[in-house]
Amino acid sequence: MTIQPNSVEARDIAYQMPAAADMRRHEETGSVVMERGDGIYVWDNTGKRYIEGLAGLWSVAVGFGEKRLAEVARAQMERLPYYHSFSYKTHGPSVDLAEKLIQLAPVAMSKVHFTSSGSEANDLMVKMVWYRANALGQPLKKKIIGRIKGYHGVTIAAGSITGLPRNHESFDLPLDRMVHTSCPSYVHFGQPGESEADFTARMLQDLEDLIAREGPETIAAFWGEPAMGAGGVLLPPEGYWQGVQEILRRHDILLVADEVICGFGRTGHMFACTTYGIAPDVIVLSKQLSSSYLPLSAIVMNDRVYQPIADESHRLGVFGHGFTASGHPVATAVGLENLKIIEERDLVGHVQRISPHFMDRLARLATHPLAASWRGVGLMGAVELTPWETPFTAAQTVAARMEQEGVIIRGIGEAICFCPPLIITDAQIDEMFDIATRAFDAVL
Ligand code: PLP
Repeated sequence: MTIQPNSVEARDIAYQMPAAADMRRHEETGSVVMERGDGIYVWDNTGKRYIEGLAGLWSVAVGFGEKRLAEVARAQMERLPYYHSFSYKTHGPSVDLAEKLIQLAPVAMSKVHFTSSGSEANDLMVKMVWYRANALGQPLKKKIIGRIKGYHGVTIAAGSITGLPRNHESFDLPLDRMVHTSCPSYVHFGQPGESEADFTARMLQDLEDLIAREGPETIAAFWGEPAMGAGGVLLPPEGYWQGVQEILRRHDILLVADEVICGFGRTGHMFACTTYGIAPDVIVLSKQLSSSYLPLSAIVMNDRVYQPIADESHRLGVFGHGFTASGHPVATAVGLENLKIIEERDLVGHVQRISPHFMDRLARLATHPLAASWRGVGLMGAVELTPWETPFTAAQTVAARMEQEGVIIRGIGEAICFCPPLIITDAQIDEMFDIATRAFDAVL
């Protein structure tokens, strides 16, 4: 495509530094300019329509163009567009949403603290883990365990817990206090002849060994996505989370469940902690919390976390942390309305009802000659491709072809990852996978 002088594309190249891109490539080819969205569809500025097979960035639960969210945002903008939560100030929208999250939480939780992105929430949570350790007189208990292929964001601490080399390379990450244990993806890391049960046992032994090597008295917390998303939709094997929790309890290590992707119905329950039987100390939420209509994230914590931090803030006279936009009134009002929509339309029940059809289509796509296997939970799934040797991976090639055919998904490693808006219908699932099959055929 030729880029016209002074077009949006040309000015994008001239003025913007893109995210998650090869910038030299961006300078040559520019970006697709998105203009509007409705339901599961988005349109670019040439009028081309796409199915958003990844719900934006795993996030637009209620679909694009939801008028109720726009109306609530407008009303809140007119009433109180901004207020902060410093120095004993608050406002109704953040209180209402905090109360709602405490009510919805899958285990007893006591407090919510709002931030604006998943990275910010995880970064702050790291500081809170360290603050808590100091409060408890455990100044050595500061290390954090993440997992290879785990994703928790890109800020300095969150990016250090992330276990993906491309988020570390040349950024001087990870920080020394972050260590990583094995990735529990049986498909990728199971050894020839190893049963799933043996694989799980080996993953748990790896965790035990890491804790023993580092010294349990130095380890404060374990971070995990109940089902890994950005690492390529990697699902935990049977018994994994039960085993991990038993080990963490034995060594007095906090468990932070990063439900930034999984939360609010994605895995067929309101929270994936329910899907996998996880009882965490902290749940980190974002994305589907506001369907990403506005930036919003939340840390939901139990008393074991909150009480020592509260004591320390009292001893010091202040909890020396706060963002200008923490608990933003418009974002929290939109978040609450978004959760009302998820409940009123029973989107969690909808995911449960529609998931078998989604799985069936994943399984059928996985019979294609390009494919090796598939996996999925709720409305999140992946088809693993057989790797090939060209400048672009099989997944990059197929993902590009799918976009050309009108479905946006994500190629991660060798996996084609699907994570559509929760409102998708049976017919739209068929439409998405029919286009995917066409793209697979075209690449073959
Ligand atoms: N945690 C998880 C599990 C995520 O998937 C993401 C983003 O994809 C993040 C944290 C980071 O969120 P953000 O991009 O809002 O900083």
